[in-house]
Amino acid sequence: MSENGSSDLDVTAVYPGTFDPITNGHADVAGRASRMFHRVIVAVAANPAKNPFFSVEERVEFARLTFADFANVEVHSFDCLLVDYARQHGAGAILRGLRAVSDFEFEVQLSGMNRRLAPEIETVFIAAAQDYGFVSSSLVREIASLGGDVSEFVSPAVNEALLARLRSR
Ligand code: ADP
Repeated sequence: MSENGSSDLDVTAVYPGTFDPITNGHADVAGRASRMFHRVIVAVAANPAKNPFFSVEERVEFARLTFADFANVEVHSFDCLLVDYARQHGAGAILRGLRAVSDFEFEVQLSGMNRRLAPEIETVFIAAAQDYGFVSSSLVREIASLGGDVSEFVSPAVNEALLARLRSR
């Protein structure tokens, strides 16, 4: 470990996702990875096909607020093939989070495809923390849109933004 708590292992990990919006579960995964990897890039997929609730600019801003105190975590958006993005940034690892068994099938398929496309990049899974294993962006959006309290699952900034967006509807 170096002084700022980051790992001395000189590997950059890319953590891709839609992050619509970033939750405490995502934050926990990236925070734990920041202690294992030299540098973690949270890569916010533009993903227009998913018709995100928040714009890519908003999703990047929320993630930047979340990781403001992490010296070795960067946040950027991307709209190209993930392995191309990872290669462009010299990443040796793709980071994904695993919650329930239901995540497993898709995540293993994705990692197999990414390995075929870029054998030199290893996918690394971090298991969700017990407290966040049931947290997803889609549930957070759904609960908030029905008037439920999601402040336990997202940062205060994201909670405010969600409430503001829902009020303006
Ligand atoms: P995507 O559209 O790529 O699935 P998400 O933002 O939904 O983007 O998720 C990004 C990654 O974070 C995925 O690997 C997902 O399994 C993981 N993830 C999502 N929520 C959590 C959580 N609460 N705890 C741990 N990992 C999570």
